[in-house]
Amino acid sequence: MTTSSKDEYSLSTWLGEFADRETERSFQRHFQQITNRQLRIVLMVWAVLLLLFAVPDYTALGATRPFYFLLTYRVAIALALLAVILCIRSDTDSSKISYTVTAIVIVGFTGFMLLFVYRPDATVWIVGVIMIQIIALLMFVPIRFVCAFAGGFYAVVITLGTRWVMGSSRENLIGLFFLLMLPFVLGAATALRMAVLQRRQFTYLSKTEKINRELEEEIDRRHKLELKLKELASTDPLTGLYNRREYEMLFSHEIERARRTNSPLSVCIVDLDHFKKVNDTHGHAAGDEVLRRTADLLRSKLRSMDIVGRLGGEEFIILLPETRIDQASLVGTRLLEALSTTDIQAGAAMLRVTATIGISQLIPNDRDFNMIIQRADAALYKGKEGGRNRVEISSS
Ligand code: GH3
Ligand code: MG
Ligand code: MG
Repeated sequence: MTTSSKDEYSLSTWLGEFADRETERSFQRHFQQITNRQLRIVLMVWAVLLLLFAVPDYTALGATRPFYFLLTYRVAIALALLAVILCIRSDTDSSKISYTVTAIVIVGFTGFMLLFVYRPDATVWIVGVIMIQIIALLMFVPIRFVCAFAGGFYAVVITLGTRWVMGSSRENLIGLFFLLMLPFVLGAATALRMAVLQRRQFTYLSKTEKINRELEEEIDRRHKLELKLKELASTDPLTGLYNRREYEMLFSHEIERARRTNSPLSVCIVDLDHFKKVNDTHGHAAGDEVLRRTADLLRSKLRSMDIVGRLGGEEFIILLPETRIDQASLVGTRLLEALSTTDIQAGAAMLRVTATIGISQLIPNDRDFNMIIQRADAALYKGKEGGRNRVEISSS
């Protein structure tokens, strides 16, 4: 892990780039938009300056052939730059543009040598401008360091070569060499340092982002686990209904609230009729399926504020807040009707089951909710006695 992340971000110091191609590409992509915008501006400034310097050409040469030669050169390079500017979109791969720009730089410096031929009066100025161009190329043109380096190096070589061909003395050439090396070395060292620094920052940023992402994922995972654990601790695994621990807690809150707000509250106990027979005839798995489907049905037919729990075996308990016993009786009837008309596919068999419901209501004398349940249970017993598939309400 440590070694892989070290390798991934290791820098090739002399190239001013990441050694890993993929990392370098993602670095380029990260800065692509800014780089391309800067490149467009720099190329534009370059083109404008190139054209502007036709003015001193004209003042020195007038409307002569050399002037038009130089003007053609200036316009050609400016047009080439303009073409590149127009090709650069915010999502253009900036490292690819580097090669095109380098090619223009090389052609540009070559053409610039014409000035030595046509403007011998301005030799010192021309060398000065070349020095500025070398430093600007290395420090301000946002292209790959190797490309800028190659362009700068070419400028030094072509200038010395031209001066040599034009018959400059040895001493002059040596002086010129040191003069040109000054911006070249300074610019290259600065450009390399900037490239390395920018990549180091990118490394820190990427690592921090990665750690944050991992942390977020871990938090998310734990959160989901917590929810799952909570669900497991509060529900019955077969039916997904609240288990005893959970519904007892919810009931006590509801009873407290009903007392405080002086609102009615009813409890239903639902017991499937002859459920033993379902197990005996169709098997335990079929019985389980009946329990699951019954639980689904109860949940779907009740309000979200109603609390449904599994009391045990084939018995369910329902708490209906803000519901009087006569209203609860109607709810119970509706539930029984839905249950008795629902086909339940249990294995190969298609079953229908019925249930009996006992209902009681919270009364002022109730000390705890067991007393309400006892009355609902008694009503249920009566319902079973009375022939099943019916709702029985507690008389008290
Ligand atoms: P009644 O109409 O009087 O309620 O008759 P019953 O057969 O429904 O009642 P009884 O209490 O005699 O039988 C309940 C049966 O429920 C017995 C037990 O095997 C079955 N049972 C309890 N829990 C489960 C369960 O989780 N899955 C399955 N498949 N059966 C269960
Ligand atoms: Mg029972
Ligand atoms: Mg039963």
